[in-house]
Amino acid sequence: MSRESWSREIARIIYGLENSVRGNVLDIDEEGFLVIRIKDNVLRVKDLMEKNKLDVAYIRILPLIERAMETVYEAFKTVIELTGYKGTLNPVYPMKVNPIPLIVECIFKYGEKYKWGFNTGSLSELLLLLNLAEKYTPRTLIYDGVLTEKVIEALLKLHRLGWRIIIDIESEHDIEAIEKYPELEIGIRVKPIIKPQGKWSTATGLSGKFGLTINTLIKLREDFKWITERATLLHMHPGSQISRFSDVKKYLREVKEVFSELLELGFENISMVDPGGGVAYPYIDLRDGDEESPDYSIVDYAKTLVSEFLGLSKHPDIVFEGGRYIVSSHRLVVASVIDVRPYSAIHNKENLNVLQEYVEKIKSISDAKELISRIRGILGSIKSKSSEETSVRQRELYEDLVAFIENDIAQKISALLVEGKIDVREVLEDQLLLKILTSPSRRYILNMSIFADIPDAVLVDQYFQVIPVQGLNKPPDVLASLADLTCDSMGEISHYISPGNLLNTNSIILTNVDLRLLAIPGVKLKLRGVPLPLPLKGETHYIVVLDTGAYQDTLAMRHNLIYGAPEVIIDTSGDSVSIKIIRNGESRT
Ligand SMILES: *Cc1c(COP(=O)(O)O)cnc(C)c1O
Repeated sequence: MSRESWSREIARIIYGLENSVRGNVLDIDEEGFLVIRIKDNVLRVKDLMEKNKLDVAYIRILPLIERAMETVYEAFKTVIELTGYKGTLNPVYPMKVNPIPLIVECIFKYGEKYKWGFNTGSLSELLLLLNLAEKYTPRTLIYDGVLTEKVIEALLKLHRLGWRIIIDIESEHDIEAIEKYPELEIGIRVKPIIKPQGKWSTATGLSGKFGLTINTLIKLREDFKWITERATLLHMHPGSQISRFSDVKKYLREVKEVFSELLELGFENISMVDPGGGVAYPYIDLRDGDEESPDYSIVDYAKTLVSEFLGLSKHPDIVFEGGRYIVSSHRLVVASVIDVRPYSAIHNKENLNVLQEYVEKIKSISDAKELISRIRGILGSIKSKSSEETSVRQRELYEDLVAFIENDIAQKISALLVEGKIDVREVLEDQLLLKILTSPSRRYILNMSIFADIPDAVLVDQYFQVIPVQGLNKPPDVLASLADLTCDSMGEISHYISPGNLLNTNSIILTNVDLRLLAIPGVKLKLRGVPLPLPLKGETHYIVVLDTGAYQDTLAMRHNLIYGAPEVIIDTSGDSVSIKIIRNGESRT
C-alpha cells in the first residue's frame, strides 16, 4: 500500500469539515489556513486571534445559528407541502441548551420570520425572555418547569405582551396553581417509554424526572374535569442526541400513539404535538449511527414525523424543539499552543545501537512482534523489581526501551507498510501494534481548560472535533495528546476519529514526522492523539475545538479558577460582516 499525497479535499475530510450543518462556512484556504466564510467574506481564524492579541477565545459565528434554523424550517416546509399535511410547523428553542443573552437574542432576531418560540424551565430563563420580549414580536412559550407564584407572574406578563403561553402540568399542585388563569393553556407532558441509545436516555422511562404517566393523567382528569378543555398540547421529550434513526422512528411512533390515546380519552382540544428534542447533531458527519455521528438528516426527521401523523383524521400542528441541532455549530474554542513536549519516553540513541541492528532486520509483522515481545520481557523484569532495587540507570534503560518501541519500531513498521511489505489489515488485527501505531508522540500544552471550555468532554466523555488553524495544506506532522492548563489528569484530549471510510483513495496516510497511522481507506479509525502540525520556533499556533455551542457555556466549571474567555462575535448586517470583541474572562496565562 503506497502513501497518499495530501490535498485540501483530504484535509477537509480528515478534519471533519464535511459537515451538513456547517456547510462551507468553515473551510481551508489555498495556503492551508482555517477560514470562516460568510457571504463573500473570508476570515482567517489565525488572523482574528493575532490581530486582536488573543491567546484564547470563544469565536461565535451567529450566522451558523441562522443557517441551522433555516435548514430546519425549510425541511419541514418542504415535507409539509409535498405531503399535503394540514398542520403547521411551530419551532421553539429550548433555552437550557444555551440561555446566554446573546444567543437568546439571536434566536429572537433570526427567528422573527419563522415566529420561533421558546421552551423554558426556570424563572431565570423567563426573566431573561421578559427583558428581551418588548423588542420583538410575541412568540409561543412552552413552560415545563416547576410552578411557583413568581413563575406564574412572569408567564402572565408575557401573556399580556401577546405571547401564547402553554404550561405543562405534572401534578395536582400544578393544576391548582393555574386553575384561575384561563388565559394559560395546558400542555400534557407524558413520559416516553422507549429508551433510545445514548448518553442522555435517562430522560425517558416511567421513572424519568419529567412528565406524567398515563395512569396519573387519567386520575387527574377525573378529579379536575376542566383540564380536558384547556389542554392544547401534547409534550414529550426523548433525551438529547438520539443518533440512531431506528430509535427516532420508534420514538415518534410512540408520540403518535400517545396523541391518539389522548384524543380518545377526551382531550379533544389538543391540536399541537411537541415531540421535544433529541435531533442529533453530527459532531462527525459519517451517517453511521454512532453516538457522535447520527445516521439521519433533518429531512429524514421531518419526513418521519409528518408521515406518522399524516394518516390520522386530525393533523396536529408540529412543534420542533431541538436546540443542540440549532446552536452546536456556532461556537469555536480557540486556544494557543504554549508548549510541545514528548508524550512519553525519549531515548538516548547511543545506548541502543545494538537494538538498532535488530530493527533493520524487521521484514514482517511477526519479526516486529517478536522483537517487541523480547523487549517487553526485559521491561517486565525491570518493573517487577522493588523500587529500592531500581537504580537510576535502570530507569533510564526502561525509558530507552519504551521509547524504542514507540518510535523506532513503530516507524519501521510504517515504512514497511508504505513499501507494501506489510498489509495494513495485519496491523488492524493486532491490538498491540495498532495501539503503538496510533499513539501520540507529542503532548501539546494548550491555553484552555477542558473543564471550563468543553465540560461535556469530562462529564460525559463527549467527542468534539479538533482542528489546527494552519498548516492544513500539508499532511499533519504528528499525533498529539492535548493537555489543558488544569492540574487534573482528566484535562486532556487524546482521542480522534479518523474518517478513512470517506476517503476516495486506495492509499494509507501517515503523519509526516512521527510516521503514525493517520487514515486507512475504508476504515473509521480511532486514533489516540490528534493529528497536528509541529509549530516552528517562534511561530504561534492555535488549536480549535469545534461545535461547542450547545450546553458548554452554562455547564462550565471553574477548576483551578480558570474560566471565561474573550469572545469574538461574528454576525452579518446586510451584506457585510461585523466582528465584535468582548474582552471578558480572565487572562489565563
Ligand atoms: C433539553 C430539552 C430539549 C433539547 O433537546 P436537544 O436534543 O438537546 O436539542 C428539548 N425539549 C426539552 C423538553 C428539553 O428538556
